[in-house]
Amino acid sequence: MPLPMSDVFLSHSELDADLIKLVMVSIERLDLDVVVEEERDNYGDEVVESVQDALKDCDCFVVILTERSIKSPWVNQEIGYACALGKVILPVWVGEVEIHRSGMIAGKKGVRAKSEDEDFNDMMGRILGFLIEHFDIKSFLAFCEECGKEDEWHLPDDDDLFRYSKDGEPMSDSCSKCGHENHVHPLSLLTITTAE
Ligand SMILES: [Zn+2]
Repeated sequence: MPLPMSDVFLSHSELDADLIKLVMVSIERLDLDVVVEEERDNYGDEVVESVQDALKDCDCFVVILTERSIKSPWVNQEIGYACALGKVILPVWVGEVEIHRSGMIAGKKGVRAKSEDEDFNDMMGRILGFLIEHFDIKSFLAFCEECGKEDEWHLPDDDDLFRYSKDGEPMSDSCSKCGHENHVHPLSLLTITTAE
C-alpha cells in the first residue's frame, strides 16, 4: 500500500478563506503537509477524482464547520467520503454553528470555538494538540520575525499543548542565524510580532 501523500486534508468553504489561511499556516508549524482543495468553476470528473484522491491519500481529515461551510455541498460530501474511507476525523465547530447539523460526525469528539476571532489561539491549541498526539510530534518550526529563517523548537515534554499553555506565556528563543529573540504563541505556534 502506498504511503499517504499528505498528513492533513483541511475541508472548508472558500467563504472562510481568511480563517483557513491562518489555520493552515498554524498547522504547518508542526511540519505537516496540509492539502486544501479550492472550490472550482469546473465540476468535471477530473476535479471530482482529484478531490477523491486527495481524501484517499490523506492521513487525517480536519473539517472547519462554520455557518458558511456547513451549507457547502462540497464540505458535506467530503465529510461523507472521509467517513466511508474510515479516516481519522477532527470536526472543528466555529461560532454559532449547531453541532447536530453536522450529520454523520455530530457525535464525534472535536473542537468547539465560540468565535473565530476571539477564540482563534484557543481553537488552534486544541487542533494542534490533537495532531501532536496523533502524529507523535516532538518539535515544531518557528520562523524568525527578523530574518525569516526557520528554526526547530522542541515542544514541551507534556504533549498536551493546551494544558501546558493555559497560562498563555509565549515561548521564546533566539534565532540560530541572527540571534533575534523570537516569541511564539503557545497555542497557535505563530510568531508574535514585536516590531513597531
Ligand atoms: Zn533571525
